[in-house]
Amino acid sequence: MPPGYRRQLEGYRYGPGVFKVDYALSGPVPWQAEACRHAGTVHLGGTLPEIAAAERAVHQGQHAERPFVLVAQQSLFDPSRAPAGQHTLWAYCHVPNGSTVDCTAAIEAQIERFAPGFRDLVLARRTTNTVELETYNPNYVGGDINNGVQDLRQLWTRPTLQRSPYSTPLPGVYLCSSATPPGGGVHGMCGYHAAQAALKSPTIIG
Ligand SMILES: Cc1cc2nc3c(=O)[nH]c(=O)nc-3n(C[C@H](O)[C@H](O)[C@H](O)COP(=O)(O)OP(=O)(O)OC[C@H]3O[C@@H](n4cnc5c(N)ncnc54)[C@H](O)[C@@H]3O)c2cc1C
Repeated sequence: MPPGYRRQLEGYRYGPGVFKVDYALSGPVPWQAEACRHAGTVHLGGTLPEIAAAERAVHQGQHAERPFVLVAQQSLFDPSRAPAGQHTLWAYCHVPNGSTVDCTAAIEAQIERFAPGFRDLVLARRTTNTVELETYNPNYVGGDINNGVQDLRQLWTRPTLQRSPYSTPLPGVYLCSSATPPGGGVHGMCGYHAAQAALKSPTIIG
């Protein structure tokens, strides 16, 4: 890549990482809220001010005492994920980029808070900190599964400021990752827009 473009890429900013736990459970999670017993994904935070405080702490480089926890319970909908009557589940919380702090206790305290008896169901657990996440997939720099901080400054300028951030200075080479707009968490829209950019390109059409 030409030096000017490289310099812009080098200024790209990464956001918080995640600490993730995978579980094997002897039964479904005993959520107090009935709706959560039927949800594929549960966002656990308590009140809005609690969630805001937890996320603010992480953005300030601290570990939240009561983290905002994202829980996915796939086996409720796909029985092939676990032996009959048993369940799989994973949960993660945000942590400062590059953190190696073990947040298992904090995550489990949050789940237990809204589903008393959860801990008794745990048959096995596997934890992954930010460093291990990056080893598994080098795209998760510092454990940032969003592939770059997604704030106002870097929402439409990811990874560089130009009319089509999907194009690169190299003809026929496009970026389609979550490091392009609109970023991670939107299920493939970056790839869709990158494909549109490529289809409009005279290089491809010609
Ligand atoms: C636990 C978890 C939950 C998530 N939940 C959601 C969700 O609910 N909704 C949502 O929209 N997003 C979610 N995400 C985020 C989403 O997975 C990512 O935003 C998305 O996968 C990023 O896509 P990508 O194409 O940028 O990169 P990736 O899907 O990470 O693909 C990059 C690929 O490049 C490979 N690679 C990296 N470096 C190299 C190298 N140097 N050489 C060769 N190959 C390399 C990697 O192995 C990988 O296959 C979640 C992520 C995680 C980890």
